[in-house]
Amino acid sequence: MIAVLKNGTTKPQMDHLIDWLSKQNISVHISKGDSYTVLGLIGDTAKIDIDLIQSLEIVESVKRVSEPYKQVNRKFHPENSVIDVSGVKIGDGSLNFIAGPCSVESEEQIIGIAKQVKDSGATMLRGGAFKPRTSPYDFQGLKGEGLKLLFEARKVTGLPIVTEIMNINTLDLFEDVDFIQVGARNMQNFDLLKELGKTKKPILLKRGLANTIKEFLMSAEYIMSEGNENVVLCERGIRTYETATRNTLDLSAVPMLKKLTHLPVIVDPSHATGISWMVEPMALAATACGADGIMVEVHNDPPHALCDGAQSLTPEQFDSVAKKAFKIKEVVD
Ligand code: PEP
Ligand code: MN
Repeated sequence: MIAVLKNGTTKPQMDHLIDWLSKQNISVHISKGDSYTVLGLIGDTAKIDIDLIQSLEIVESVKRVSEPYKQVNRKFHPENSVIDVSGVKIGDGSLNFIAGPCSVESEEQIIGIAKQVKDSGATMLRGGAFKPRTSPYDFQGLKGEGLKLLFEARKVTGLPIVTEIMNINTLDLFEDVDFIQVGARNMQNFDLLKELGKTKKPILLKRGLANTIKEFLMSAEYIMSEGNENVVLCERGIRTYETATRNTLDLSAVPMLKKLTHLPVIVDPSHATGISWMVEPMALAATACGADGIMVEVHNDPPHALCDGAQSLTPEQFDSVAKKAFKIKEVVD
């Protein structure tokens, strides 16, 4: 249930209502907009008398929501959320590029790529240190050493870093990471989501390989329900019967998510297609349909990359994609 409070409602009046609701085991999520305050009532609201709430002097309107996700729901929070990643804003109407290799491989590699993608307009550096690989015999990432190299690259370029956490036992190592990624394979690792919800770190939550939009939103709800509101969603392709591409990029998820939730939505055309020449058209299409950002894999030497070389762009190719995407962004704005 959501209740929109009248303009001019005082804090004591609002607290009085919240107090009354809490006595009925209803917790309240407060969203303050420019003109209205929206209260999201969380708990078993079936027993709440909607007419009684409607009749209160401070209440403008009240309605029941049937969706099981509350905190991520745009109905509770009509304005777009803007997530601040160490000074870089996502969801404020700008187009952010997160670029970098699939995996951190060496100091020279990560710093070299970081400088180049920054020159092309990237606002954040990605790079995996803990890698979820389908085969246990494949390169598993440089782990803690990889994180140190990312910190080094941040020091040199100033770009905030984005990297994936696979196991909550490593959370201490991520204290200095700007933006923690939860990969597709962990989208429904609920214990991990809950622990990340207890932090204040921005979380980049990728859609699972075979998850619906509703399940995706419920996973974001896990993080937010623990108190962490800094969540960004990433569409990265889903598994379908199609085998010509690594996954099927569900671009329709972008406008749908933007309608259902106030959280920013970005797109990863690299993992979605698995093919480097497809990254550009899909990045441009993602920009056109309203994505708040694009995450792209960029490698200095794709044929020799330790991971995902076939879908990685060279820095020069990335430069061309970024230039075109910024032009598309101007057209659609
Ligand atoms: C990645 O971003 O490197 C990655 C493993 O992505 P996903 O979880 O989407 O497969
Ligand atoms: Mn990858």
